Amino acid sequence: MPDVFTKRKRSEVMSRIRGRGNKETELALMALFRRHHITGWRRSQPVFGKPDFVFPKLKLAVFVDGCFWHGCPKHGTKPANNAAFWRKKLSANKARDGRVTRTLRRLGWRVVRIWEHELARKNEGRCVEKIQKVIRGS
Ligand SMILES: [Zn+2]
Repeated sequence: MPDVFTKRKRSEVMSRIRGRGNKETELALMALFRRHHITGWRRSQPVFGKPDFVFPKLKLAVFVDGCFWHGCPKHGTKPANNAAFWRKKLSANKARDGRVTRTLRRLGWRVVRIWEHELARKNEGRCVEKIQKVIRGS
């Protein structure tokens, strides 16, 4: 079945989804920081790659990656409509994530990437551990 949206309309629709998704996952991580008394983070810092959270003193950048947009190995589905378009788009996203992580590390940053699914309540313990391990190591 052909996509009911034109390409332009489709990317408009999807970018709205992305916007909302990011906001939600960022808020979820913020709540998790608060519940576990993790302090020292800032949002919207002018750091390369626009990390979702930055711990300036620790030079630690945290990204929250949506499972769909960043191609999570567990939940990264590939839409059947416009398959070629999506394959290209999503693999470009992944490539960019890799470039950003490598560049930040070269600049002396520690980088933690958290999957959207790691923010689920049942995964929270592991997610906190992952962040605290990096914080302790600094
Ligand atoms: Zn996932």
